[in-house]
Amino acid sequence: MSKFLINKYQSLEAYVPGEQPKDMEYVKLNTNESPFPPSQGVLDRISSAEVSKLNLYPDPDCKVLRKKIAELYGFESENVFISNGSDEILSFAFMAFCSEEKGAVFPNISYGFYKVYGDLYGVDYTEAPLKEDFTIDVNDYLNINKTVVIANPNAPTGLSLSVDEIEKIVKSNPDNVVLIDEAYVDFGGKSCIELVKKYENLLVVRTYSKSRSMAGARLGYAFGSKSLIDDLNRIKYSTNPYNINRLTLAAGEAAIDDNDYYMNRCKEIVEIREYSKRRLSELGFDYLDSDTNFIFAKSDKIIGEDYYRRLKENGVLVRHFSNPLISGYVRITVGTREQMDKLFEVTEKLLK
Ligand code: PMP
Repeated sequence: MSKFLINKYQSLEAYVPGEQPKDMEYVKLNTNESPFPPSQGVLDRISSAEVSKLNLYPDPDCKVLRKKIAELYGFESENVFISNGSDEILSFAFMAFCSEEKGAVFPNISYGFYKVYGDLYGVDYTEAPLKEDFTIDVNDYLNINKTVVIANPNAPTGLSLSVDEIEKIVKSNPDNVVLIDEAYVDFGGKSCIELVKKYENLLVVRTYSKSRSMAGARLGYAFGSKSLIDDLNRIKYSTNPYNINRLTLAAGEAAIDDNDYYMNRCKEIVEIREYSKRRLSELGFDYLDSDTNFIFAKSDKIIGEDYYRRLKENGVLVRHFSNPLISGYVRITVGTREQMDKLFEVTEKLLK
């Protein structure tokens, strides 16, 4: 830390992304990326003609992409916001809708960045404890004078609230923004985006990083009432108007044109997930009933940290969290069938 860093940031605990080691080729099941490449349409759009336009700024309004996303999901462009990864929308939303006066509430076990943004922006936040079975207690979020932030399905548990439960939360908080992070919704979860048409306080955040095989391109989007989207634009145009680069915009547009390709890959991942659950059961693991592209699993035979470490020594990366409430578990991204079989082969060996 330099002597120049201002006081309020000196105690900031930054987010620690999942590791991306380069020392060897791993079977990478640790950051919930898609194991499948982007569609042919995306590969074709990143042509040398597109690259040769990099001397020009991209469209800061992302007009074409907003229109395509709006049409695909039955919205108007004014209800769509585009960002550099969904992390950026979360950052803008914490800046726009949370403060010391307007606190925030999110589950105590959830996406780790919520807490980091809360700290970064000096938000008075509460971490509502999950129930013993790792489900969210809806009562913690009703009639509460705070901005609500919930990942649905939640991470790293993989468990979902129903659309009715989300509606109950949104309806009971007309003076608060309710942000629902649907990063993993395409793997069998139930989306609440239709509620955006009914409630001006609901913001639904999505990403291209998981179901659209574009984690490396950094692209996120959100649906909300025009007024909420205007608020996010106010923040965006006050920080970095050209937040999406030309190549990512082009890739994002092509990916919407190839929607069927992605939805079919999601179905494939769901099938591999169900196969993986069966294999984990055979190996004596317990796991939560995931609606996502990952499985949160534990075994009585090996503690979470040891399992993570020994897998890594054997070329398989999964994610382990040191939080004592979940340290017995590992989070396993659903990869290809071959990647999962490698995981099970190593696991069998370790448990012998
Ligand atoms: N929300 C959740 C729940 C996540 O797990 C992640 C990915 N780590 C994100 C948002 C951010 O994803 P990205 O910035 O790649 O869109």
